[in-house]
Amino acid sequence: MVVFIFILGIFVGSFLNVVARRLHRQETFVTGFSKCLFCGHRLHTRDLVPVLSYIYLRGRCRYCRQPFSVLYPLIELLTGLVFLLIFTTVLPSGDIFALSGYLAIKIALWWVLAAFLIVIFLYDWKYYLILDKVVLPAAVIALAGNLFLGQHLLSLLLGALAGGGFFLAQFLVSRGQWIGWGDINLGVLMGLILGWPQILTALFVSYMLGSAVSLLLIALRIKKWKDKIPFGTFLSLGTIIAMLYGPQLVSWYLALFL
Ligand SMILES: [Zn+2]
Repeated sequence: MVVFIFILGIFVGSFLNVVARRLHRQETFVTGFSKCLFCGHRLHTRDLVPVLSYIYLRGRCRYCRQPFSVLYPLIELLTGLVFLLIFTTVLPSGDIFALSGYLAIKIALWWVLAAFLIVIFLYDWKYYLILDKVVLPAAVIALAGNLFLGQHLLSLLLGALAGGGFFLAQFLVSRGQWIGWGDINLGVLMGLILGWPQILTALFVSYMLGSAVSLLLIALRIKKWKDKIPFGTFLSLGTIIAMLYGPQLVSWYLALFL
């Protein structure tokens, strides 16, 4: 079961790569062949096996030998891992026969929301942009899904207010210099996924991750101080981490000080 879910996640990750790329190129992602971005050669099924094709072809196009981004297999593996962790978090026993309707819906909801977050993660990393047409449907699904699962409306609204307000305040203070509307919308989405007070955990984790990775990239001279940071990438990752480990993180953090 565990292997099956990991592989399912890898295939979903492969689809999310296509979604991000085609959103950028404004193509439909329901139909159409996959093509090499360099030589335009149509890619066949054997070229598109997630992770394995990348390893077998050593990260290059079979036809023109141009290198593909290592992001593709990494996103596939990340999605596989996240799908698996969501499953084991919601159903710690891993016993499929213990799966109630409620838990099945929760797993499905979290998988869908994680998929949206991974698209936001990838898109902001590649193109420095958080798309409304990804964030807004995810926000509707998060609100409806969480209410259906019995989360309190007030907790969700307070989370959305805290998440959106946090970025709105920065937007107003900096007159739109530091962040854009995409961050505010993403803050609202984070609140609708996590509710209050877990939104705070997600913001905290995101800032820690963002700072640590930025400092590392600057130390390695990959980025400079003035360079843009794809903050939506860290916010998405922080949200997924808070979904999975929110309560443990809070008690661990409090234990450091109490
Ligand atoms: Zn090619």
